[in-house]
Amino acid sequence: MGENIDYYQVLGIARDADPEEIKKAYRRLALKYHPDRNPGDKTAEEHFKAAAEAYEVLRDPQKRLLYDQFGHAGLAGTSFSQFSTFDAIFSSFSDIFNDFFGFGNPTQNRPRRQPGKDLYYQLEIRFQDAVFGLETSIDISKAVPCQACRGSGRQDGEQRLRPCSFCQGYGTITRMEGFFRINTTCPHCQGSGQDRGEPCQVCDGQGLERQQKRVTLKIPAGVDDGTRLRLRGEGDVGLGGGPPGDLYVDLKVAPHPLFQREDNNLIYRAQLSFVDAALGTEVEIPTLTGSVPLTIPAGTQPGARFTIYGEGVPILRGNGRGNLIVELDLRTPTNLTPRQEDLLRKFLATCRPKTPGKSKTARRGAATSKTVA
Ligand SMILES: [Zn+2]
Ligand SMILES: [Zn+2]
Repeated sequence: MGENIDYYQVLGIARDADPEEIKKAYRRLALKYHPDRNPGDKTAEEHFKAAAEAYEVLRDPQKRLLYDQFGHAGLAGTSFSQFSTFDAIFSSFSDIFNDFFGFGNPTQNRPRRQPGKDLYYQLEIRFQDAVFGLETSIDISKAVPCQACRGSGRQDGEQRLRPCSFCQGYGTITRMEGFFRINTTCPHCQGSGQDRGEPCQVCDGQGLERQQKRVTLKIPAGVDDGTRLRLRGEGDVGLGGGPPGDLYVDLKVAPHPLFQREDNNLIYRAQLSFVDAALGTEVEIPTLTGSVPLTIPAGTQPGARFTIYGEGVPILRGNGRGNLIVELDLRTPTNLTPRQEDLLRKFLATCRPKTPGKSKTARRGAATSKTVA
């Protein structure tokens, strides 16, 4: 590190940042560039060290003042260390690392406070249940605190962290050699200053075990295929007071034999004989809850649409319902009896224009004008 780095820039803070902002910025960066999270990443290591250096200066009001007035030159005479090892960084700011990484130990990846993981579940429901809502329950496998160690991850079940008895919690061992004080990292706690004890054998020191759990689920009316429900806090539990994860339930809605869904509308395709369409009739149209009568006026064409209001899908977390749209599909009769065929021929004869030549001309004329248009 050195002469050309701007400590405020390194921490991404304003020049008038208060001590709390400085601490927060450093925590954030230390967490991001922590060597455990970026193993072997030289750039992350540089950032991590630069952040530590910046923090060491800016958190100390006197050093900060000197730095603000004279830049790096101002710090030349102070007891200012440019960190060369991770251990030096961890022991200097052990308060922050204890908060954030549990044991403040750079070599062991066991953060104390850790949010629980989110869980995902796919649930298939019936068409009607998507429309009208449903209360059901699902069984999920989720991480809960290990019973054997009460979530501590330690064989002895001790919840609170105790200082390392070997180094009295300093993380370093000091010995005198002639006039020199020599500090070495405590071999017992690897510099963390904490007594971690023996890891719990049931959960392998993780503090968590998986358990089947039944979760009640209230599916609101009007959900659709692909709707995702979020159950806050129903995911894996967190570690060391970390918040639990969420449970996401993705809904898959089975198709309905009669209805197709378009947003909040239902589409129903009704089959009708062309004779009924020509003469007009009354038909019963099925709905999700029963049926309603529908009048088909004489001369109805294939593909005609009728709207039955309020018989669609309830609006999700809103008021009212969509509509039921009836689309008419005309059937041509087949397997006619000789008598029926005879009647149709007679019917056809009544439709034939009396002067076919004239009609043909008229049709051709219509086609031509269509082309021109
Ligand atoms: Zn120790
Ligand atoms: Zn355990």
